[in-house]
Amino acid sequence: MHELGITQSIVDIAIKTAREQNAEKVLSVSVEIGELSGVVADAVEFCFEACIQKTFLQGCRLIIEQIPGLGQCEECGAELKIDTMTFACRECGSYKLLRTQGEELNIKELEIE
Ligand SMILES: [Zn+2]
Repeated sequence: MHELGITQSIVDIAIKTAREQNAEKVLSVSVEIGELSGVVADAVEFCFEACIQKTFLQGCRLIIEQIPGLGQCEECGAELKIDTMTFACRECGSYKLLRTQGEELNIKELEIE
C-alpha cells in the first residue's frame, strides 16, 4: 500500500512546518488529493491515524479535500470531467485526454495553536 509512504511524508512535512512556526499543537492538517493522483483518500485517512501516534501530531484531525479530475480531449476539444473508470472522452471516445486538474497531492493548510 503506497499510501503509507505518502501519508508518512505528509506527516513529516506537517511536523516540520509546525515546528518552524513554533506551534504548540496542530489541530488539523488539510490536504488536497486529486482524483487522478492514484492516491486513495480513505487509505490516507486510515494511515494517518497510525502515523501520528506518539508524534507531535497526535490527536490532530485530517481534512481531505478531493480535487476532481478535469481534462480536455485532444481529438474533439471537449472539456470534461475525466471518468476514472474508462479514461475516455465522453463526446468522441478518444483516450487522448490532456489532464488539466486532478493530479494534486498537497498539504493545503495547517491549523496550529
Ligand atoms: Zn473527444
